[in-house]
Amino acid sequence: MNRSILTEPLVTPRPLQQPRVSAVVPVYNEVESIPLLVETIAGVMQHHGLSYEIVCVDDGSTDGSAELLRELARSRSDLKAVLLRRNYGQTAAMSAGFNNAVGQVIVTLDGDLQNDPTDIPRLIDKLEEGYDLVSGWRKDRQDAMVTRLIPSRIANWLIRKVTEVRIHDYGCSLKAYRSELVRDMNLYGELHRFLPALAFIEGARIAEMPVTHHARRFGKSKYGLGRTFRVLMDLATIFFMKKFLTRPMHVFGLFGLISMLVGIGLGLYLTLLKFGFGEAIGDRPLLILAVVLFLTGVHLFSFGLLAELSMRTYHESQNRPIYRVREVIGSDR
Ligand code: UDP
Ligand code: MG
Repeated sequence: MNRSILTEPLVTPRPLQQPRVSAVVPVYNEVESIPLLVETIAGVMQHHGLSYEIVCVDDGSTDGSAELLRELARSRSDLKAVLLRRNYGQTAAMSAGFNNAVGQVIVTLDGDLQNDPTDIPRLIDKLEEGYDLVSGWRKDRQDAMVTRLIPSRIANWLIRKVTEVRIHDYGCSLKAYRSELVRDMNLYGELHRFLPALAFIEGARIAEMPVTHHARRFGKSKYGLGRTFRVLMDLATIFFMKKFLTRPMHVFGLFGLISMLVGIGLGLYLTLLKFGFGEAIGDRPLLILAVVLFLTGVHLFSFGLLAELSMRTYHESQNRPIYRVREVIGSDR
């Protein structure tokens, strides 16, 4: 962790014994599922002898989920309820969960019982083989075909192409992380879907593992087709972050320069026509093109400079290094 005190989120004090696993669950109007979910997670963990805590984040539910969580958390020592003031969306809820989780391993899963908690120990075993992130793959996904499976196939294909993280299913919430990794990542928008890609940018070793997926038993899905568009926009952000986060001038500067040079070239050519050959150039589309290219070039170039500045602010204001260390060996000697 490398953030200054000022930007450190408020976290509950660490318990004396750090649990091995924190299960982080975003919850938005899932009141019917909560009791069974908490019971199942607790059962699985106890059965496998894993020390654990469950962090349920209520994302401004209106169906009584918050009240139920509050009550449960009072009576159970293994449950922490984080109640958000309003509905912020799944990404924010997960982020709140991460900030309040203290386990060595963080496992995320949905609050609607679509993910199966019995898969958790297998994910953790895989993590122990030396990975930083193990992502679930809903090989046999139980969701509607047209609104879910098809857009998801296309999105997964596109994300795979753009991020170069070779996994099948980015949308699966069931994932296990080493906690250091999660703390290095800042989440915005709906970027929780791109956690593997963000982790990859942070240099994580990533594995994938088929997991069970159930149809929704209670309540209804919080997303519709509109999600596809947002995924595409987030993908564009990720693409930029992956390629040029620490060197925006390399992309904006390059395109800006090319555009400016072509604009100048065309301008010179038109000048030559006018003054060398006495041709009229006032009504030529080429003139407009030259002007547009030149101005665009200037814009891109100065935009690149601004991006360089804000990139520096981004890294320096949080003491955020531009690299990630996996291990330092022999540092105490
Ligand atoms: N969720 C949330 N805030 C939201 C929307 C969803 O915390 O604004 C939670 C929701 O309660 C569930 C998870 O995110 O635990 C995934 O949502 P959902 O099951 O509706 O998505 P789907 O499985 O249909 O993709
Ligand atoms: Mg679901």
